[in-house]
Amino acid sequence: MIIVLKPEATEAQINAIREEAGARGLIVREIQGEASRIIGLLGDTSLMLMETVSRYECVERVMKLSEPYKLASRKFHPGDTVVEFPGGQRIGGGGLAVIAGPCSVESEEQMLSVARDVKRSGAAFLRGGAFKPRSSPYAFQGLGLDGLELLKIAREKTGLPIVTEIMSQEYCEEFARDVDLIQIGARNMQNFPLLREVGDLGKPVLLKRGASCTIDELLQAADYILMGGKSSVILCERGIRTFETATRNTLDISAVPVLKKKSHLPVVVDPSHGTGHWDLVFPMAMAAVAAGADGLMIEVHNNPERALCDGPQSITPFLFDGMMRRLGKLHDAIKEETGE
Ligand code: PEP
Ligand code: MN
Repeated sequence: MIIVLKPEATEAQINAIREEAGARGLIVREIQGEASRIIGLLGDTSLMLMETVSRYECVERVMKLSEPYKLASRKFHPGDTVVEFPGGQRIGGGGLAVIAGPCSVESEEQMLSVARDVKRSGAAFLRGGAFKPRSSPYAFQGLGLDGLELLKIAREKTGLPIVTEIMSQEYCEEFARDVDLIQIGARNMQNFPLLREVGDLGKPVLLKRGASCTIDELLQAADYILMGGKSSVILCERGIRTFETATRNTLDISAVPVLKKKSHLPVVVDPSHGTGHWDLVFPMAMAAVAAGADGLMIEVHNNPERALCDGPQSITPFLFDGMMRRLGKLHDAIKEETGE
């Protein structure tokens, strides 16, 4: 339930609503709307009837949220969310944030080489999987905590914040301490205990869409994280499973404007996992920017033929550099056109 307050509402009047909602076991969230002050009530709102709330003097109007997600909904938070990082990087708010790096952390030399190259080309974040969710138990599973140490070294040398996937609650402490943007992979999008715990860490979370999940399911997963009240969420479209076999997944570009309409959260697109082919990454990255994405996640490897994971979809630093220049031009042209 959304409660729009009158401009003259006093703290004492609002407190009365907070108390009644609290007594009925509801969660109260406050939002600074663009023009007015808004309160959201979460939980079984049938316990606090809309008529009851409308009777409070400070209430201008009350709206029921029909969507199954609340905190991620644009109705709950009309303005765009911009996620800001201590180093000044931002995701959302009109810029184009590019996260680049190898699928997996393999060695110090590999991480430093790729990190330096992608930084030079304009990437704002460095990615690299330390814990890898592989379909086959016989495939390379990642370097684990040793991989995280290598990411930290690369961050120290380049200043790029690090993005890496958490696969279980076991390492929440290390991730909260060491990782700048915590990734929840497609396979864990509906791992609800993990989502809840990550929501308590107070770190931005990159939530990837499950390969067989709908947009509404993605937004409900975001609510699990946002319920903790501490972490911000960035949504990531990374392709969904369809009958098509020409590409690894079917990159759902239409998810970008749909998510933008339904939600206030920033949207990033991953054309690497979305297509599975290095030569499709650039056209789909352009399509994502044209569709209004706030950022991109691109797999870049210094030697794709020898990559321990996802070589076929990884581009070289040389190709990444050319791509960044053309993406920048497209993004500038769109901004000029829309006057943003
Ligand atoms: C990844 O980004 O490394 C990854 C495994 O992606 P996804 O979870 O989208 O498959
Ligand atoms: Mn990968």
